[in-house]
Amino acid sequence: MTRTRQDCQVLDDEDTLRELRHQFDLPPGVIYLDGNSLGVLPRATASRVQEVMQREWGQDLIKSWNTAGWIDLPGRIGDKIGRLIGVKPGECVVADSTSLNLYKVLSAALQMARADAPKRRLIVSERSNFPTDLYIAESLARQHGAELKLIDSVDELPAALNGDLAVLMLTQVNYRSGFMHDMAAVTAAAHAAGALVIWDLAHSAGAHEVDLSGARADFAVGCGYKYLNGGPGAPAFVWVNPKHAERFWQPLSGWLGHAAPFQFTPNYQPAPGIRRYIAGTPAILSTAALECGVDTVLAAEALGGMAALRKKSVALCELFIELAEARCASLGIRLSSPREASQRGSQVCLSLAAPLQEAGYAVMQALIARGVIGDFRAGDPRRLEQVPHILRFGFTPLYIGYAEVFDAVEHLHAVLASEEWRRPEFHQQGAVT
Ligand SMILES: *Cc1c(COP(=O)(O)O)cnc(C)c1O
Repeated sequence: MTRTRQDCQVLDDEDTLRELRHQFDLPPGVIYLDGNSLGVLPRATASRVQEVMQREWGQDLIKSWNTAGWIDLPGRIGDKIGRLIGVKPGECVVADSTSLNLYKVLSAALQMARADAPKRRLIVSERSNFPTDLYIAESLARQHGAELKLIDSVDELPAALNGDLAVLMLTQVNYRSGFMHDMAAVTAAAHAAGALVIWDLAHSAGAHEVDLSGARADFAVGCGYKYLNGGPGAPAFVWVNPKHAERFWQPLSGWLGHAAPFQFTPNYQPAPGIRRYIAGTPAILSTAALECGVDTVLAAEALGGMAALRKKSVALCELFIELAEARCASLGIRLSSPREASQRGSQVCLSLAAPLQEAGYAVMQALIARGVIGDFRAGDPRRLEQVPHILRFGFTPLYIGYAEVFDAVEHLHAVLASEEWRRPEFHQQGAVT
């Protein structure tokens, strides 16, 4: 029996994480299923950013680097994020963007590989990885005389873990399909093959439990504006296993990664540990906003923490799959994410079967017009069977409820059954999809 709206309301009433939703100001009438792309605005953020602007900057001016602790923000928030990804205080910092942090750690990893195993010259990643990760790797491969090799499926991974591999660079949860790698198992296999591993946690941090230390990972980066609710363009984070942190300079050797920035010496002397991964002056306004976002996730610690959030996320995703298939399979909806919860992050992707395989964009626009916000990711036009256009829905247990999942599927059903998506206004493409 498919669950009813009343069943979903009971789940909401029994949800011990429900109170966490009050940390956010969600617009009325919106079911926001895109927290995997841009997290929502925490209530605390506006007043905190006002305080930083008006008192710390406006009144206290430059003194605030000391008196308001601005200079400590990258480490302080890095420590908070560390609690979500299984690393110790002092091992993670907030800085720059995910793209830049990836540049830093991949460069360091390639230098290490070159020193320890000069014959290894492959960086391996997935063709379906988020493009910026691949673009950064392409550039570094050129600079370091390395080669970027892309695998098309995880089945090709074991064969890629061989004596040519220098660095395995993976995003733990695929941005399109939601497929989740087993971090501990993949890291162990790569290490057994003599390679280093970089994990991109863009769709992991704040979404499910991560244990970088337990997995003995080498490097990690992640995003501040997705599940961490840091705001558009929020700074990202970077972690390096302490056993590697001091082996090499990262390439963007800026003054705030110097051991003693305020001695203004002409020569670079990297700071000990992870601090050398900071390049220049942190963007204090957006870093302060990021802290408010991270705090909304840490607020779950008193209610079971990431384990409880993950449990609810799995329940929301399973409910969505159950209802979407029951109500919309006959209208062409297909599941495009792994069905097995242990292989899936906090998102579910759907695609449309023939003859509607081109309708995805318009269907998503029609859903958004009804207040159900997900997003659309284009497939490969030459291979739509293998890489279909997808409708992507993120389920953030901090603020999404079960009845909302039910309502979202009813809207999807209505859009398809009435063919509302055929209306011309739903076919216009904006600059950002
Ligand atoms: C979102 C995301 C990014 C974003 O990188 P920016 O530098 O913030 O634009 C990078 N990698 C992955 C895997 C992502 O999902």
